[in-house]
Amino acid sequence: MPTEQSSLARQPWQATVLTIFPEMFPGPLGVSLSGQALTAGTWRLDCLNIRDFGLGRHRQVDDTPAGGGAGMILRPDVLGPAIDVALAAAPDLPRVYLSPRGKPLTQARVRDLATGPGVLLLAGRFEGIDQRVIDGRNLEEISIGDYVLSGGELAAMVLIDACVRLLPGVLGAQDSLSEESFEHGLLEYPQYTKPREWEGRSIPDVLLSGDHKKVAEWRRREAERITKERRPDLLGK
Ligand code: SAM
Repeated sequence: MPTEQSSLARQPWQATVLTIFPEMFPGPLGVSLSGQALTAGTWRLDCLNIRDFGLGRHRQVDDTPAGGGAGMILRPDVLGPAIDVALAAAPDLPRVYLSPRGKPLTQARVRDLATGPGVLLLAGRFEGIDQRVIDGRNLEEISIGDYVLSGGELAAMVLIDACVRLLPGVLGAQDSLSEESFEHGLLEYPQYTKPREWEGRSIPDVLLSGDHKKVAEWRRREAERITKERRPDLLGK
């Protein structure tokens, strides 16, 4: 019989990835903090091989674009059943298609996803996927930046890594999260550590003053200055 406490235990955060290259996973997610959290059962990773849903003897997953043009498109009659199998195991997961055309991934969206049950991620390949899959399975398109990757797997890893480090217990000092870039709509202030002098460059005196109020004020000013210089678009948000 489970005790009351164990039945209330938190379910692992679930990442389900649909890909034609499942051997890429866990890859970098299997080392350091995310790897330790995976081993500890804080999160769980399931990869479904889209090829297993491929058609015919050659397990075909793609075909030429309707209307002509270069490259190949992942077929809806392959992706649809693959997504349905993934959803049967985890029906509550938000469904994401990694796509350069998607809404840019933000720390706010990462935080939302990290506080939910997990995420189902579809990694595209070739020239992308049939639009009917996006519409028919209600996929949210998310981009990790304004550049084009060869496939969605690395983008899926980026999104998973950003979420996993926010899960309770994954980072040692939870305080460090609230001070990070984007958490207050600002980029992070400059950081220093020992030695006090390095190659003729010193740590700013205020950081060694022991005056917490002055340190906080300096950090805030620096965060604002750097954000204004590099990402003025964040200031208006
Ligand atoms: N023809 C597509 C276009 O112009 O938008 C690019 C396809 S890209 C070569 C193949 C796959 O990589 C995409 O289906 C997507 O899953 C993934 N991908 C590429 N760039 C990405 C980005 N910036 N963010 C998220 N996923 C990306």
